[in-house]
Amino acid sequence: MVKPSRTLSVVSVGLLSVTVVITLVLLNTVRFDGSLRALFNRDHGIYDHAMVDRSKKYLLNTLPLIEDFNDSVEEISPVREEVLMQFDLAYAYLNIGRYLERYGCVEPALDNILKLRNDIEKGANQTFQYQIWAEILTCYDEVDKSQDELKANLIERALIDSRANQFWMNVGVIAVYVLAIMLWFLLEIQHRLGRKSETEKEAWQSRAMTDHLTSTYNRMALHETLESLVEQWPVAGESVGLVFYDIDHFKKFNDTFGHVAGDKALRQVADTVNKLLPMPSDHYRFGGEEFFIVNRETEHSEVVELADQILSTVQKLNIENPNSETGFLTVSVGVYMLEQRNYTAEELITKVDELLYVAKKHGRNRVIDEFTGLDG
Ligand code: GH3
Ligand code: MG
Ligand code: MG
Repeated sequence: MVKPSRTLSVVSVGLLSVTVVITLVLLNTVRFDGSLRALFNRDHGIYDHAMVDRSKKYLLNTLPLIEDFNDSVEEISPVREEVLMQFDLAYAYLNIGRYLERYGCVEPALDNILKLRNDIEKGANQTFQYQIWAEILTCYDEVDKSQDELKANLIERALIDSRANQFWMNVGVIAVYVLAIMLWFLLEIQHRLGRKSETEKEAWQSRAMTDHLTSTYNRMALHETLESLVEQWPVAGESVGLVFYDIDHFKKFNDTFGHVAGDKALRQVADTVNKLLPMPSDHYRFGGEEFFIVNRETEHSEVVELADQILSTVQKLNIENPNSETGFLTVSVGVYMLEQRNYTAEELITKVDELLYVAKKHGRNRVIDEFTGLDG
């Protein structure tokens, strides 16, 4: 299974959060759109009092003009014409359907404006009919005040909506980021658990391939190595030496000093040989007191030299073994160069084992390779 990288997961969570927040903003905008439209609606919104204001303004415009007309009806003066036009405008701006629907005073006020206008058209000079003017102006006040209240209500509703909007927006954004953090946290835990189980798996794999007494690789690992060597063989430029060594008279060593001392001696020998090995070498415990070395990238002479060093260094450990010819713990070694590709792993082991057997047969504490011969 391909695991998504940590960065990719974090970026995905980030992008997801931003997308959700943008969607929230858009949804809120659409939701708030109704209040805004109501507020700024040309006919019913905050501008709805504009008509009545204008009507009043036109009507009041006539006042300074109508005090004194010095023309005759037959010959209408420009002032009188202007006054008539202002009355017409005042009438038109008050004659609005929704004003008529909402306010009972509008219809009589319109009648009164018309009456004043017609009187002037008929030639009246004195138009100060206070009762009529008072009724019209009172109506203007009533409509104006009521329109102001409507406007205030609209603004208040828009404000309440805006606040509610803001609140839900904040809740949404916080929720999104809390969820994003939780998601990131879960991804992080998953990542760490994955890493931990990988480390554990590697540790178990390594344990399964290691001999616990000597910390060398075990026989299972040797078989894997040899099988892969045989499979890949020949690798260009590579020459591999196989070294098989066995501690001499080890049974008697155990019988004399006990198995605990035997274990200690096994560890000492393995550690000593480890130190002699060049880096690309693999050291395996074949079983009991027998060890195997796969010595890569080396020449035949170098492998034989290594085997000689193993021999002398183990002897120099001066581990007493009264049953040995030298009086000390020694090893016998077989050396074989991996040359033919049609050998199986088992056949390779048999090849080196045969050489080790010759070393044993020839009095132990010695190195035998294929050129030394099997004739002994
Ligand atoms: P040779 O020189 O022919 O190799 O004789 P040998 O006694 O070394 O060989 P043999 O196969 O007769 O005996 C091997 C002994 O190794 C038997 C056993 O007591 C000992 N041995 C095997 N594994 C262990 C171990 O893990 N710890 C200890 N202490 N002894 C072991
Ligand atoms: Mg043995
Ligand atoms: Mg032995």
